[in-house]
Amino acid sequence: MDILSRLDDIKKDFKAELAAAAGEKALEEVRIKYTGRKGELTRILRSLGDLSPELKKEVGKKANILKKEFEEAISSSREEAQQIKARKKQEGIDVTLPGITERLGSLHPITQTMEKINDIFVSLGFRIAEGPEIETEFYNFEALNIPLDHPSRDAFDTFYIEGENLLRSHTSNVQIHVMQTQPPPVQAIMPGRVYRPDTVDATHSFMFHQVEGLMVDEDVTFADLKGTLSMFCKSMFGEEIRMRLRPHFFPFTEPSAEVDISCIMCKGKGCRVCSGNGWLEILGAGMVDPKVFEAVGYDAGKYTGYAFGMGVERIAMLQYGIDDIRLFYENDIRFLNQFR
Ligand SMILES: [Zn+2]
Repeated sequence: MDILSRLDDIKKDFKAELAAAAGEKALEEVRIKYTGRKGELTRILRSLGDLSPELKKEVGKKANILKKEFEEAISSSREEAQQIKARKKQEGIDVTLPGITERLGSLHPITQTMEKINDIFVSLGFRIAEGPEIETEFYNFEALNIPLDHPSRDAFDTFYIEGENLLRSHTSNVQIHVMQTQPPPVQAIMPGRVYRPDTVDATHSFMFHQVEGLMVDEDVTFADLKGTLSMFCKSMFGEEIRMRLRPHFFPFTEPSAEVDISCIMCKGKGCRVCSGNGWLEILGAGMVDPKVFEAVGYDAGKYTGYAFGMGVERIAMLQYGIDDIRLFYENDIRFLNQFR
């Protein structure tokens, strides 16, 4: 390349780099690159001795003009950068910095769902009762008509601690405590944590949450149970939700039923969430077995009652369209931030 057009290229590059340089440090880098001791322009000026006398004169003149131009441009850019810096310092604020956002906490989606369930039942006249998570066999099993040698106990895998202590496998233990400490009428719900030695996967966890309900009085019927649950389903999932009961077996209720709602995703048409049948199982319920009343000293000839129970994680997963229960316990802020 001829050395004169090489000088033109250097000028072009210099202008582009100078325009892109923000701040004094970047400007100094540009200065060193072009007019510094080993800079591009300096190199050309030093090699003038190798050129013919005519070219030497022409190139020398042009290079010296460029050098002066470069130095002036850098010095004026540097002044400008210093002025900006001083102004920012004086103003005490850099409007180009990103703002500081307040990181507000929020309730965990399980807490939100549990509170919504609780609110619905409280509005129907239920009070909230709580009980121990470490429990004895009597409260977790025997008083609920699940004797030690009964095959139904197999369905209730349980963490045993020591002696006859265990981590409760359902919140039904609280029903027994409530009935032992007050005469009928009883109208209470029992929200809380429960534990089962399940292998953790997308739908199982060794710890999860339940809300159970209990109503005991004279003349409580299955129709009362159905009415209460129907009210709950509509309040929780929407007025258009339909509910159905399927016969089932639980040791502590007789008769017992599993309760389905019409699929909230496909409105009952059939989809992946409801396995194509249009219904979602959400809770278990039934009329309190007279044996349970015997265990707590209630007159089973005078009183009747209903009980129901549901898994909070299951309901939260359906409500929010979450397909993996493990997300609730990983404390990933990107997940939790979606439930404000
Ligand atoms: Zn569906």
